[in-house]
Amino acid sequence: AAPPTAGPDAWLAGRPDTPPRPHASHKGRFGDVAVVGGEALAQRGMGMTGAALLAASAALHAGAGRVLISLLGDAADADPALALQPECMPRHFDALPLDRATLVAGCGGGTAIAGVLPVLLQQAPRLVLDADALNAIAGEARLQRLLAARASQADWATVLTPHPLEAARLLQCSTEAVQADRLAAAQALAERLACTVVLKGSGSVVAAPERVPLVNPTGNARLATAGTGDVLAGLLGARLAALPPATAFDAAAGACWQHGQVADDWPQERACTALALARALTPDAARTV
Ligand code: AMP
Ligand code: MG
Repeated sequence: AAPPTAGPDAWLAGRPDTPPRPHASHKGRFGDVAVVGGEALAQRGMGMTGAALLAASAALHAGAGRVLISLLGDAADADPALALQPECMPRHFDALPLDRATLVAGCGGGTAIAGVLPVLLQQAPRLVLDADALNAIAGEARLQRLLAARASQADWATVLTPHPLEAARLLQCSTEAVQADRLAAAQALAERLACTVVLKGSGSVVAAPERVPLVNPTGNARLATAGTGDVLAGLLGARLAALPPATAFDAAAGACWQHGQVADDWPQERACTALALARALTPDAARTV
């Protein structure tokens, strides 16, 4: 195999970067991110719409050219997305450009995400799977088969972003077993499901088949608050949208680095909520040449 051109080398150099943004650029050049999730159950007064909104906001701040959002359940209504982030474009799931957007699926997806996962797994070449998408996959052998089958598609990229409990469900073991050897757990998941995996937590591990796993050195306990994982998923979507699919590992490593770095640079006097974190992201690619 050819030696990696980015990844560990760029990592050691200090900061895995997205390419510079040429002066004569337009929004179509930096990729579309489409977030699918944020289920609401109006009858029961419950919902997780915020998770999808946080991912969408993060993708936008991280430099995605355009951000689409497809909310599930009773949240299919566009208003919450527009109120938070008017740049986002609400779409029904059926109207998403699955073939050309980078899909970020599962943030606050609830049980509704399982219904759209077969289509996403079979039709979306660039896919970030988080939270309830991972829970749905852990519970359904058919979805696991569809996920593993993606590896046979040339130029497709799949990144999973489990926290330790989500990883334990996928591996059918305890959270303690995952945490006892995080490198081995991330690598086992990456190989079993033939994907790039980010095992989140203090020292997020980035793993992929036939790659040496990385441990992200940035980040701190400011990130131990609701919604920061959704921000990572959106940021990763923006990076994946800006890079060739073969560099999914680097997109994942770069996203973890940036997510943690923003938290490390956080002003002491300011609360690091997930929305503030999303809004503090900037596109590395904003440097012009
Ligand atoms: P989630 O569990 O899905 O909400 O994701 C939480 C995010 O915050 C992940 O990206 C974690 O890696 C990060 N995070 C949470 N706690 C810490 C911590 N103590 N140190 C570094 N990163 C953390
Ligand atoms: Mg999460």
